[in-house]
Amino acid sequence: MMAMDAAFDVVIAGGAVMGSSLAFHLLSDPGFSGRVLVVERDRSYQHAASALSASSIRQQFSQPVNIRISLYGIDFLRTIGERLAIDGEAPDIGLKEGGYLYLATAAGATILEANHQIQQREGADISLLDAFALKERFPWLTSDDLVAGSFGETGEGWFDGYGLMQAFARKARSLGAVYIEDEVADVRREGARITGVQLKSGRRVACGSFVNTAGAWGARVLAEHCGVPIPVYAKKRSVFSFRAQEKLRRFPLLIDTSGIWCRPEGEGFIAGCTLPDDSATDQGRDFDVNWPEFEDIIWPALAARIPAFETIRPGRAWAGHYDMNLLDHNAIVGRMGDLENAYLAAGFSGHGLQQAPAVGRGLAELIAGGRYQSLDLSDLGFERIASGRPLLEKNVI
Ligand SMILES: Cc1cc2nc3c(=O)[nH]c(=O)nc-3n(C[C@H](O)[C@H](O)[C@H](O)COP(=O)(O)OP(=O)(O)OC[C@H]3O[C@@H](n4cnc5c(N)ncnc54)[C@H](O)[C@@H]3O)c2cc1C
Repeated sequence: MMAMDAAFDVVIAGGAVMGSSLAFHLLSDPGFSGRVLVVERDRSYQHAASALSASSIRQQFSQPVNIRISLYGIDFLRTIGERLAIDGEAPDIGLKEGGYLYLATAAGATILEANHQIQQREGADISLLDAFALKERFPWLTSDDLVAGSFGETGEGWFDGYGLMQAFARKARSLGAVYIEDEVADVRREGARITGVQLKSGRRVACGSFVNTAGAWGARVLAEHCGVPIPVYAKKRSVFSFRAQEKLRRFPLLIDTSGIWCRPEGEGFIAGCTLPDDSATDQGRDFDVNWPEFEDIIWPALAARIPAFETIRPGRAWAGHYDMNLLDHNAIVGRMGDLENAYLAAGFSGHGLQQAPAVGRGLAELIAGGRYQSLDLSDLGFERIASGRPLLEKNVI
């Protein structure tokens, strides 16, 4: 046995949105009375995806579990003031329900319609629009090549993602979570249990349960330390801001047929794209903006779709990393492999911020009571990774 400097019932590695949502949900779970330690290696969060995100929420997924997660997500975001207030002081994350608009040419219309049926079945408020309706509702679009569009009337939009992370963290601390700035450098595995963690500072902490919410690169490294490798890799994404001269009414989060996305942000817009060659991965250390992406790919496509964007003023840009699950672009949530007391929430592949409320709640239920209660997240479980059975999400941005 290694000697321990401290002991906690739950040790969470990674204190950004996922770790903090879990800490909050655990400490507000009536079935849980333990002590929670959140180990975060960088309290400035400058490289955390949670701080570099486009912070948007959609219901337009193809997997029912993702739609259910987002239905709870939007409810949580709408009522965040009541849920995460501290001493009457309510956080404000500036939620704007501007909707997502997915566009389709003839080639993509069938899949849009199939997804729409799933979304309707799950109770998402999505309208399927034909070319005529598209032109009427979004007159600034070039729609000659479009056959259909799918628009979120309510329940979709954008918000202050950094604000959400901070609101979770503050509330978790007010409920007793202990946050320390340190790095989980290794774990102590004894049989089917993780009994403690070794921190970079040299401290050792014993744990009743261990949770890996360490993001794009961190989660992969910690999973390996636990002896349960995961196919999660860091993928760089650049986000570009710009201003247009013309005011465009009711601009949603637009997903163009080219795969480029664009949405309002303040007085202007932000946009990004999925690169044609998306196979390359890095170690989550490259934060240089890929400027040619805007000049060569994004702007030409946007100007072709929206003539008012032919004249724009580019602004600042930043880059962050998706924690991309290369098996199926869906999160891996739940128990880690054959370990009895270790849990994972990683591989969110670009939709983790909106999933943080439901995933934090679900993991808290699993840890406190041994099973999911309010929403079954087992479709996202590790078993599919072990058996190589992907849960394919068709709507990935
Ligand atoms: C450009 C971009 C746009 C995005 N747009 C959206 C969007 O519109 N909507 C959406 O829902 N999602 C979006 N995402 C994805 C979303 O931001 C992430 O899925 C989500 O923030 C992941 O949260 P996390 O807490 O799991 O990871 P992170 O925010 O990456 O946090 C992980 C934390 O773990 C810490 N850490 C790592 N290793 C260790 C260790 N060994 N010990 C201690 N701490 C450690 C890190 O310092 C970090 O703070 C986007 C992401 C990017 C990069």
